[in-house]
Amino acid sequence: PVSLTVRDIALDDAVTAHNYHPLPVVIASASGAWVTDVDGRRYLDCLAGYSALNFGHGHPVLLDAAREQLERITLTSRAFHNDRMGPFCRDLAELAGMDLVLPMNTGAEAVETAIKVSRKWGYDVKGVPADRATIIVTEGNFHGRTTTIISFSTDPVARAGFGPFTPGFRIVPYGDAAALGAAIDETTVAVLIEPVQGEAGVQVPPPGYLAEVRELCTAANVLLVADEIQSGLGRTGSTFACELEDVVPDAYVLGKALGGGIVPVSAVVARREVLEVLTPGSHGSTFGGNPLACAVGHAVVGLLQTGEYQARAAELGARMRERLLDLVGDRVTAVRTRGLWAGVDVDPALMTGRELCERLLARGVLAKDTHGSTIRLAPPIVIEQDDLDWMLDQLTEALSS
Ligand code: PLP
Repeated sequence: PVSLTVRDIALDDAVTAHNYHPLPVVIASASGAWVTDVDGRRYLDCLAGYSALNFGHGHPVLLDAAREQLERITLTSRAFHNDRMGPFCRDLAELAGMDLVLPMNTGAEAVETAIKVSRKWGYDVKGVPADRATIIVTEGNFHGRTTTIISFSTDPVARAGFGPFTPGFRIVPYGDAAALGAAIDETTVAVLIEPVQGEAGVQVPPPGYLAEVRELCTAANVLLVADEIQSGLGRTGSTFACELEDVVPDAYVLGKALGGGIVPVSAVVARREVLEVLTPGSHGSTFGGNPLACAVGHAVVGLLQTGEYQARAAELGARMRERLLDLVGDRVTAVRTRGLWAGVDVDPALMTGRELCERLLARGVLAKDTHGSTIRLAPPIVIEQDDLDWMLDQLTEALSS
């Protein structure tokens, strides 16, 4: 008999666009850090929805918030007020130490929003001549998949065949503050940056880099926009990765874990002066700020207000780092970590990142490769320490077998 896994993958192959190359596993249910496939096999989820599942699958507090809201009202549109958006945005702004929130749905939408807001701020507040605004971004960035966002990607696969591209962006090397400073001129309205580059393989910039970027932005009256869609909300052992460098941006771009892995929720959270440039009709979204999203997002903010998840990510992350560093030199060429988040570079002579992920899959661990020979480990923060240790045992054995 054909396994359910084989059957379901054949269906996906037949009826969906092939814009992903998933590992051959079909997940049907999950709880906490564990998922179960259609044939009943269990796996430890060490991708956690690219960090959208920081609080694990089916967190009871988040499920309760969603269920309760499902029964009341799920969508009003922004043509009317709803009673969920205000409390969510108030508490999210407070958590971030900012003034105003603009709720959207996906990460890319929030990045697009930040780009539009930065440009409008540049014209209205900074006084940049019309249509001349430039935004500085970094090599290796990942901010999403829309036409404008891929216009400043440095990944050829993300761009090929999708031109013409949106102008107005300058790309500088990541981690090089001098190069960034040299790219700023009177047309520069913002620096859009990931405090840790996630999709690039958990690239952590040199100590002091973000603080230098902050100083350059302040000196030149340029907005610092931190894309913390992947790095934010607990993953790095703090609420925001910027905090680890004592840096306060002018705006945070948030997504992924903000929706608790239940609904897409993203937001731009910024100083009043920044978001205040928007006026009725100048920006919007049918689903942005919907009551269901706000109820779940509000519950996520509640979890983060306790500080427990940040502390847990820091503690488990220290353990993961220690064990990963033991692997460096033999079959692993480099390891980079920030909290419970690691990029592991496998010796390319040995195997590709994809091959390692396939070996891990056979051992009951889900992980995802990126850029050839790197794998990324980002288990849900609710993972048990024993499970984390078990996963690292599996990794060690998968590397040596
Ligand atoms: N920005 C960063 C830093 C991301 O990691 C991602 C997704 O991986 C995005 C933006 C895009 O988010 P979405 O896939 O929800 O559009």
